[in-house]
Parts: sequence; structure tokens; C-alpha cells
Amino acid sequence: MSSPLDHIFIPVAILLLFSKKLKLNQREVIALSFFAMLPDIDSIFFSSNGIPLHRVLFHNIFIVIIPLLFFMFAKSKREVFGIIIFYLTSHLILDLFTGGIFLFYPVYNKVFFAHVELLLSHGSFVPALEYGISNRIMNNGIGAPAVSSENVAFVILLAICAAISAIAFHRKTE
Ligand SMILES: [Zn+2]
Repeated sequence: MSSPLDHIFIPVAILLLFSKKLKLNQREVIALSFFAMLPDIDSIFFSSNGIPLHRVLFHNIFIVIIPLLFFMFAKSKREVFGIIIFYLTSHLILDLFTGGIFLFYPVYNKVFFAHVELLLSHGSFVPALEYGISNRIMNNGIGAPAVSSENVAFVILLAICAAISAIAFHRKTE
């Protein structure tokens, strides 16, 4: 399962990396980043017979249609809708590769999944490739940490960079 941190930081980092080329406002890129987490709100919904709707209700291509229409027909601020589309799509792709999603719900009620890994086993690389359509989510994240140890290391790196840039900024203004 992708953690909330992965869902936010991976697409934000990608957009910031390309923000100059794509002429994106970096403040907008950061302010809109909650859209990268938005699909997981469906974890609080259940169907009438008690089936959880996580990775179902808001984890399908139809959630992208509304911002897509705005993107196509808006007269101004189209880049805002472009950023929202990117964030929502990034969430779907990350979950597709970590357990699967109901990609075409409610039209087609099956899970699309992909699992691609390169394992190091006894000194040699072993590829593990699995993909297809299933009746259920392969790994719904039960038991997985909401914040992993790797996430903590990542936040430490981020804090180091923030500290260095704060010091550099301070020196410049002196
Ligand atoms: Zn999700």
C-alpha cells in the first residue's frame, strides 16, 4: 500500500521538477497537493450490505472526468485543473501498482492490478511480474504502516534540505 506520504510527495516532487518547463506556479503545485490524497476519502464509505468501498468509490477513471471537463472548457486558470488531473491520476497509478483499484467502477466491477518487482535473491536478480484483472484487491493495506520507516527517513532528508536552504537564505539577506 502506498502511504499518505508517498501519495503526496511523489507527485509533488515530479511536478516541482517540471514546474519551470510546464510554466506552473510552484505555490499552486503545493497548495493543490491534497488532491493527490483525495481518493482515499472513500475508505469511510460502505455499501448498503456493509462492503467497504475503499479503492472502489473514488478510485476509478470517472473521478478525473469533472476536472478534465474544466480543463477542456475553462477560459482561464487551466493549469489548476491540469495539476488536479495529474494528482488524481497519480493516486490511481500508485494504487494500481500496490494492490489494484476498481478502475472502471461502477461500469465494470473488477480490480485492475499490476505488480512489478526486481528481487535480489542469492546474488542474482529475479524479476516478479504480475498483472491483470481480479475479483478483489490484492493487498488492501491491512497491517501495513500508514507511515513507514522509509517515510521517516525521507522526512529527515527533507528537513535537512529545508535547514540548509534556510541557512543559505539567511546568509544572503545578511
Ligand atoms: Zn488510494
